[in-house]
Amino acid sequence: MAMDFGLVTWFDGKGYKVFFDGGIYEYPIGGLACEYSRFKPYTLKDVIMKCPVFEEAPSESTIDESAKWFSDVLFKEYDLVTAIMILTDMSNLIHDYLWAEDKYKKQFMDDLNEGLQDDKVKQYILENSGMDKFSIDTMGAIYLSAYAGFAGSYVAFRHSLDLLANDGGDDKDDVDAFLNFFGDYTEMQHIDYRLALIEGKFAEIFTIKSSMSLILFETAHVMDSETAIIKCKNCGQYFVPTGRSDSIYCSYPSPQDPEKTCKDIGAQVSRSNKEKTDVTTKEYRKVYMRYKMLMRRHPEEESYEEQFNRLTSEVKEWRNKLAHGMATTEEFLAWLTEFSENNPK
Ligand SMILES: [Zn+2]
Repeated sequence: MAMDFGLVTWFDGKGYKVFFDGGIYEYPIGGLACEYSRFKPYTLKDVIMKCPVFEEAPSESTIDESAKWFSDVLFKEYDLVTAIMILTDMSNLIHDYLWAEDKYKKQFMDDLNEGLQDDKVKQYILENSGMDKFSIDTMGAIYLSAYAGFAGSYVAFRHSLDLLANDGGDDKDDVDAFLNFFGDYTEMQHIDYRLALIEGKFAEIFTIKSSMSLILFETAHVMDSETAIIKCKNCGQYFVPTGRSDSIYCSYPSPQDPEKTCKDIGAQVSRSNKEKTDVTTKEYRKVYMRYKMLMRRHPEEESYEEQFNRLTSEVKEWRNKLAHGMATTEEFLAWLTEFSENNPK
C-alpha cells in the first residue's frame, strides 16, 4: 500500500507540473526542493500528538483510520510538496515497521533507540508522549518512531540543498559524497519513471519516493539548467526567481502578514527599515555633535569626556540590538532622550 505514495511530476525540459488529486501544479526547476525546505520539522510533533487513535494498538481499523487522518491533516497544515513528501517518507517507514519480518522490526527499533540519551531531536520527539523509548506498541508510538526516522532523512535533504544552493559549498568531501548518489550509489535513488501520452505527445513522468530522491532529482535539473537558488531578502528562505532576473523576494506568504507575499511587501518593508535607520542616525548625530563640541570647548572638564565616551560605547550596543530586531526605533530614541537629560551640560 505504502508504495503508491510519491510526488508525481511531469518534466517538460523547462519546468515541472505536479499531478495531485486531479489538479496540475506548476513549479520551476529547483522549486520543489525550495518549497520543501520551508518545512520546519519540529512542527510535526503537534500534528502527531493529535492522532485520534494515539493510544490504541495497531489493527486493520486503527491503521486505516490513522492513515486517512494523517493525510488529511498534512494537506491542511503544509504546502503541497511538503505534505506529499512527509506523507511519502512517513508512510514508507510505517509500512516497514508494521509489515517487515519480526527480526527487522526489532532491528529498526534498536537502531532508533541507540544513543537516545545524546540525541536532542529524538528526545524532543518523545517528550510529553508518555514514552521513554521508540516502539511499535501503539499507533502513537509507530508515528513517533517514523517521525524520528523521517527527521534524519529531512536533515540530510536540507544539508544537500545547502550544498546545491551554495554552488557546491566549501566542503569538497561533502559534495563528493553527495554526487556519489549519481555514480556509486544509484540504487539509493527511489524514482519511478514512465512515459505517458499527454495531448498527443509523449511526456516524461517521474514519481519521487523519498526526501533524498527529491534532492537528487532537483540537483540533476538545477545543475543542467544552471538554475539559481537564492535566499529571499525578506523571509530568508530559499526560492527560485522566475520573473525578472533581479528579483530578490519570494512569492510565499510573508512572515509579517501571511495574506501578502514577500514580493508584495518586501520593497515596502526594506524602505521602512531604511527610513527608521535614517531617523535614528539623524537623532543620534545631533546628540553626538553636542557632546563632542562640549568636550572640545572644555578640555579641562573631565566629565564631558566621560559622557562622550559613554555615549559612543552605549550606542554600539543599541545599533546591534536594532540590527537584530531586539529593540525598536522608539526604544532607541527614548534612550537617547534619557541620556541627554541625565547628562546635563
Ligand atoms: Zn520570502
